[in-house]
Amino acid sequence: MNCPCISFSQKLIMTGKRILQLQASLRGRNLDAILITEPANRRYLSGYTAADHGIQESSGVLLIPKNGRPHLLTDSRFELQAQEEAQGFKVELYRKGLAALLKTLLPDLGVRRLGFESHYFLHAAVGRLEKALAGTTELVPLTGLVERMREVKSEEEISLIRQSVRLNERIFQQVSGTVAPGMTEIEVALAIERAMRENGAERPSFDTIVAFGSNAVKPHAVPTDRILREGEIVLIDMGLILNGYCSDMTRTLFVGKPDSIFLERLRAVRKAQLAAVKVIRAGAVCREVDQAARQVLNKEGMGKAFGHSLGHGVGLAVHEAPSLNPRNRKQLRAGMIVTIEPGVYFPGWGGIRLENMAVVREDGCELLNEDSTGLDL
Ligand code: ZN
Ligand code: ZN
Repeated sequence: MNCPCISFSQKLIMTGKRILQLQASLRGRNLDAILITEPANRRYLSGYTAADHGIQESSGVLLIPKNGRPHLLTDSRFELQAQEEAQGFKVELYRKGLAALLKTLLPDLGVRRLGFESHYFLHAAVGRLEKALAGTTELVPLTGLVERMREVKSEEEISLIRQSVRLNERIFQQVSGTVAPGMTEIEVALAIERAMRENGAERPSFDTIVAFGSNAVKPHAVPTDRILREGEIVLIDMGLILNGYCSDMTRTLFVGKPDSIFLERLRAVRKAQLAAVKVIRAGAVCREVDQAARQVLNKEGMGKAFGHSLGHGVGLAVHEAPSLNPRNRKQLRAGMIVTIEPGVYFPGWGGIRLENMAVVREDGCELLNEDSTGLDL
């Protein structure tokens, strides 16, 4: 396995390019600077890895001027980490809150029009800023500026995501091989999350889903103390974060000899997944990809059992653009990474979902998964 580490200078080149791209877009919008509060955007632009414990407990805010050196504004708890990780950034501490610091900082930087991420900024915090900056700086709400940059991944990012997928698969194979009647859903989920941490993952990319039997009917099932019995479904949806980048994979297994209903439904879901994979390429319309899978399940008489979207983008966040849903008319672009995860759910019986990740290429797609557990039908 390749070393999952990336060098410091490699990180610096990646974030430096992104800052320059964002600064060009600020100048194009006649903005003097932007505040970045969304945690994945903050990490994407700075390399600063601290997490927020909720939107009210920020571990820092980026202030990117249209020209010159970017700033990372944080409090003393994060000072050392910020200086170590956010290379090229000037770290400033707010001792009396963000609004007070900006009030002194912005005039020095000549900021008259300041953008902020309106989709990730508390209304109350905007109110405080408006009050502090009244008469000097205009606040301009923006949404999705950095998210749009994140949609298309560079080859470096693709290689980091591939490593995340590989590690996730290795852990799935290791733990799923030990799943046996008598275990609870919680035990399996804990074994997975423990193995993630032991093998170098930062953390799971979402709460691991392990669902047995009829519990698998809930697409976002929460593991319980239900005990696994012979002849039951085991649905595992898991992902981890490695070097900041997420993975996301679902497999549905059967304990013992699968019955004909399970096999019929599993084959239909797999067929739907392959039909979608076939149409993914740069230029394909998101909802048409969703449609390709949905049509297969409709034909099999299982259309109503497939209630959710086909897939989503994955990167620094486990759910990001683009969404492969029946409404999205946007086109896929080369370098996007999406999940393909059709599923069918029958109350009282359970559910089946299969999820893989793929990179959109000019002439098709490149599957990131190597694991084929339960897929060779
Ligand atoms: Zn998933
Ligand atoms: Zn997913």
